[in-house]
Amino acid sequence: MYLVSSYEVFWFYYNQLSDDKKLHYEIIPEGAVCKLYFDLEYSIPDNPESCGVRMVDLFIQYVCLWLEAEFRVKCNRKNVLDLDASTERKFSRHLIFNLSHVTFQDNVTLGYFVHHIMEKLSVFCESTNSSSKGTEQTSDTGTSTDSDKVTNAAMKISPPAGTVEEVSSSDTEDPKDKSHKTREGKLTTDGVFAHFTRKQLSTLFVQNKHGEKTAFCDMGVYTKNRNFRLYLSRKYGKKNPLRLAAENEFEPHSSRNDKTIFMHSLISNVKFTPKTRILKFHGTQKNRHGRLFSKTSSTACLEGYKASPYPEVDGFLIEHTRKLDSSAGIRHWTYFSQGEVIVYEMVNYRYCHNVQRSHKSNNVMFVVDLKKKVYYQKCLDPVCRSHNFKSSEFPLPESVFPSYLWEDDPMFDGEDEDLCCAADEMEKTMAV
Ligand SMILES: [Zn+2]
Repeated sequence: MYLVSSYEVFWFYYNQLSDDKKLHYEIIPEGAVCKLYFDLEYSIPDNPESCGVRMVDLFIQYVCLWLEAEFRVKCNRKNVLDLDASTERKFSRHLIFNLSHVTFQDNVTLGYFVHHIMEKLSVFCESTNSSSKGTEQTSDTGTSTDSDKVTNAAMKISPPAGTVEEVSSSDTEDPKDKSHKTREGKLTTDGVFAHFTRKQLSTLFVQNKHGEKTAFCDMGVYTKNRNFRLYLSRKYGKKNPLRLAAENEFEPHSSRNDKTIFMHSLISNVKFTPKTRILKFHGTQKNRHGRLFSKTSSTACLEGYKASPYPEVDGFLIEHTRKLDSSAGIRHWTYFSQGEVIVYEMVNYRYCHNVQRSHKSNNVMFVVDLKKKVYYQKCLDPVCRSHNFKSSEFPLPESVFPSYLWEDDPMFDGEDEDLCCAADEMEKTMAV
């Protein structure tokens, strides 16, 4: 069964359910922006040597360094909501990164990032010779002092306003650079691994039921319309709901109570602000061991244009921009399910209301606010961007809204039909 409601209304009813009736999952909508999240688990009897609490701490440090390396996002454990559903036999945690003004494009993109950093981890831990420079340095510098620095790293983020960040793993690293920084000042891969010893990082791998070595984090949770268990919910027939972990260091800005923890635990609960940075990731380079990342083949589906969840709005913008240039189109869209905002990056359309003419090389963006039924233009030109230019708001035509269709045909039962289709679709992809 699927419920659709605002978070407030859902919480009002959910909170009143007895503990054994809380069996709910969040659906992470396909194509919607999301927080960085992880599902960490292993069987305790199969891994008597593993110390889950220490592994979580190390894992968070590792991920934070990669966020700095790939996106220059600085964060630490205080940004990470840590939920615990462990039993005597199974260690189980959910980590939800609550980063200020930073979000991932969607959970599939996020999955590429996670695969990338886990692949790097695997290669690093497997390499037994000291042929690579990073490896040698690691054994010299991987001290707990370095790790502490990471934990206490500042969380201030200075983002370019409302932009989509494209990152591939083709770092412009200078291998001779001892500072572990790229020319653009980003942390390098070696810079990440310099904080750890191989022995430390090897603890992030565990044995599965079949005695195979596997990653501590579940890589299967980044699929379309993924179901992710809610705070305080348990699996049917089980007695271990997700609760705040004893080691959690995240504190909501407002007071800490079940409701604020719940709101911060929701993966798709991301609000669009003009400062929001949208991270996307597609690595296409071979790493130094010559392995091609498995995600390479998926890169294509991120590029180019496919319909947004609101094809009528897509159609309107295409028609609108083609009045000026018949080759105009949508290069890319980002959907914020919270607040119903879509950000469109255009191609071959450069008319900017700030300069009242077309830019020579920079394309413009449109932000569509479906709740307010308006759109406005933003700009990728460095000058326009520097003062965070936003055009005045223009009304969206009524024809792009679903209600227009229903008014047209009173027999059309669009809502139920759409919901049933969506539910069917999700059932197919529903996880255990
Ligand atoms: Zn401009």
